[in-house]
Order: sequence, then C-alpha cells, then structure tokens
Amino acid sequence: MSNIDELTRYGIVHLVPILQADSMEYMEKLFETLHPKTFLEIGTAIARTSIACATILDDVKIVTIEKNPEMASVARQNILNSGFADRITLIEGDAREVEVPDWKYDMIFIDAAKGQYQRFFERYSPMLNEGGLIVSDNMFFHGLVEHPERTNNRHTKGLIKRVQRYRDFLDQHPDYETTILEVGDGLALTRRKDDSHV
Ligand code: SAH
Ligand code: MG
Repeated sequence: MSNIDELTRYGIVHLVPILQADSMEYMEKLFETLHPKTFLEIGTAIARTSIACATILDDVKIVTIEKNPEMASVARQNILNSGFADRITLIEGDAREVEVPDWKYDMIFIDAAKGQYQRFFERYSPMLNEGGLIVSDNMFFHGLVEHPERTNNRHTKGLIKRVQRYRDFLDQHPDYETTILEVGDGLALTRRKDDSHV
C-alpha cells in the first residue's frame, strides 16, 4: 500500500482519523506554495500526509512522530512501500518526550491527541524556522467546540474545553498570529509575529 488513494481508502475502512478530504487538499496546496524544506508532523497515523508531502516535494526532509505502536508499524511499512524512506523519518513514541532531530522546521503540523496541543506547541514552536508555519488540525472538534451541548460525555466535554483553551492560547499569544480556517475539521494557521516585518 503506498499510493495516496490506497492510503485514503485504508484510512476510511479502518476508521483511522486521517485528514478530511478538503483539509488534505489544502495541505497539498500549502506544500506546493510554501515549498517547505523541512516538515515536522505530530501524529503520523498511517503516514498519508507525510507521503503526500514527499510526493509533491522531492527535496523535503520529513520527521513524523507516532505514539501508537500498531499505527507506527503500518506507517513504517507504508513509508517503505512509498519509496520515500530516505526523506521521511518516522519516530515512534510520545511527541511530548521523544527526541527529534534538532533542526529548524519550515512547517510543523500538529494533528495528534487533542488534549495535548498546547504542550506540543510549546515544545516544538521554538524549532520553527523564520517565516515558518504551524498548522493545527481539528480546531472545531467535529463541530463540538461551537456546539458543546451536543454531547453529555464527560471525557468529550473535557476535550472540547481543551481545544477551546488551545484556541484561546493561540489567539492571545503575544508572539504568534493565528487564523482559523473553515476547512475540514478546522485548520489553524499560525505564524510568528515578527516574521511579518522581515
Ligand atoms: N496526521 C495524520 C493523522 C493523525 S491521527 C494524517 O494527516 O493523516 C492522530 C494520530 O496521533 C494517531 O495515530 C495517534 O496515535 C497519534 N498520537 C496521539 N497522541 C500522540 C502523542 N502524544 N505523540 C505522538 N502521536 C500521538
Ligand atoms: Mg486530525
């Protein structure tokens, strides 16, 4: 399994929370226009986005982190099959604590445990290159951030609060500027403020 359509099909059949179709399309546009040379992804799943990135950009270096060992093993196999193993480094472990190559990243994509986004942001934003972009997925949390009354589940309610808190954190951050796009499940685009003066 290696081409993007097959990965998409696998993701849907196995209920893997891969990016929604329009978010995937948007990410591909970002790869094409921004040409990141380095891309860090928090939450690999089956490596569909990383493989899509390497398909579009033949000089990109990708680091992608996955905590779930079964998911990581599917991802590892997919990366091998894709032929991009030289450009995609999969790191298995918890993104809150694993060691990652100490590079400057042109693009960072946060798409993992929704309760941990602020931790991920605080840990990885110092690795953002000047002029770089941080993308965070699931800012609507399936519409629940706007309509928290739609669930009675306490765990879900807790996650809704944390997504909302992360959005407030981004919004109020003195050093970063964020726009939330109504694409898929909500994509936040974040840039460092002083970048706009360069
Ligand atoms: N980025 C993928 C989808 C990721 S789904 C895509 O675009 O297709 C979210 C993934 O994050 C899941 O596979 C989950 O196991 C992983 N994850 C959750 N918490 C994590 C953590 N703390 N560190 C690393 N990966 C994590
Ligand atoms: Mg997501």
